[in-house]
Amino acid sequence: MRPVAAFLALALVAAPAAYAQTPGPNRVAEAQALELLKRGIAFRTVAGEGNQTPEYANFLKEHLVAGGFAAEDVRVERLADTAYLIARYRGTDPAKKPIYISGHMDVVEAKPADWTRDPFTPVIEGGYIWGRGASDMKYDLSTLVATLIQLKREGFRPSRDIYLLASGDEETSMKTTQKLAEEFHGAELLLNIDGGGGEIDESGAAVIYGIQGAEKTYADFELTFTNAGGHSSAPSRHNAIYSLSRALTRIADYQFPAEINEITRAGFEANLKTADAPMAEATRRFLANKDDAEALAYLRSYPGLIGQTGTTCVATTVQAGHATNALPQRATANVNCRIFPGTSPKAVQETLTRVVGDPELKIVELDSGTVASDASPLRPELMKLITRLIHARFPGVPIVPSMSAGASDSMWFRARGVPSYGVSPIFMKSSDGFAHGLNERTPLSEIAPSIVYYRALLRELAK
Ligand SMILES: [Zn+2]
Repeated sequence: MRPVAAFLALALVAAPAAYAQTPGPNRVAEAQALELLKRGIAFRTVAGEGNQTPEYANFLKEHLVAGGFAAEDVRVERLADTAYLIARYRGTDPAKKPIYISGHMDVVEAKPADWTRDPFTPVIEGGYIWGRGASDMKYDLSTLVATLIQLKREGFRPSRDIYLLASGDEETSMKTTQKLAEEFHGAELLLNIDGGGGEIDESGAAVIYGIQGAEKTYADFELTFTNAGGHSSAPSRHNAIYSLSRALTRIADYQFPAEINEITRAGFEANLKTADAPMAEATRRFLANKDDAEALAYLRSYPGLIGQTGTTCVATTVQAGHATNALPQRATANVNCRIFPGTSPKAVQETLTRVVGDPELKIVELDSGTVASDASPLRPELMKLITRLIHARFPGVPIVPSMSAGASDSMWFRARGVPSYGVSPIFMKSSDGFAHGLNERTPLSEIAPSIVYYRALLRELAK
């Protein structure tokens, strides 16, 4: 509790005196964020029939316009059953590239019967707000919108345009994200408020803060063997199930080459601070020579680290045969790959084909609605700024660049050359992490610091 308590005490003491020069986040913005969040959770913004994302988008638009945005600067565009929202906070210098803020309005499906509380009725209890989207990601969207309105109220005029780009199907097909990235790809940088974030331990002390600067490419490959089949009493050497089994065994035994980039290097370096002796040794050796087989094997024995050392592919489903007394005519497996930035899915497909080494293999990449994207460069200025803002709340907490397993909205912007960073200010206990799951919740205590953070971040980047 110490860092949080210390920070809150400081904020309470400092706020009234400092208000005249730098009007800080006040009760109005905090109350509005909570109101937006509560009412936002009640919109059932789930893909499919009854999708209320368009209504939620219009609700946000109404608040932005009431909060000082010109009506023509806030657009809600429909796409199939959903919608996306574009809000433009006009800057004074048209020569300066804009800043984008990316988030999403849709949520993952939630079956009320599985929840102890109705997922679309916001409940405030025990210091938390509960409901679908309470964490992913109506919380950040609400505090951000309240901050934008706060900045308008303060009369802040950014030097450059700030665009809020809120997608409407991040959790499913990302078609609205693709639309947004098609229209908006000329930014200085993009802040994804659905990525990054911090962790606190059970006592409330900050453990780590991650900035998402890269993500792996998601790809599914379908591997198929087909045979003539026949009666199971007269087996031949040709058997689709055996062929597929051999293929999968070879893939299981294959290790993709070690890779390292600026983001993962920085992540491993930060890990050194808390690593035990064997982990620190393996990490140092890997950083000195990524192909150090022993070090690599050690790191790859950790499921949480293997993905940070290169591309991974793993069999996830199989279907084979059509009758218990017949030779299989067909055996199919899905191999799911998380591809290291810089490698194309096509190159991975070629590798899998070579590894299997069976001319009868048919392999196709399934359309998973994703795209390959490069890692965003670690900008020293941005890193410094985020570090300063996070340290204002939690002094000394390690700030660690991270590469996620994919796929977030950032991928579509990165693929178009927009450097994108996941920079949500929310700190949570891992025991409170229920995004996509049951009884999703976020502590209300994150509202005030989120507004402090977003306000300072935007003021600084668009000063
Ligand atoms: Zn999300």
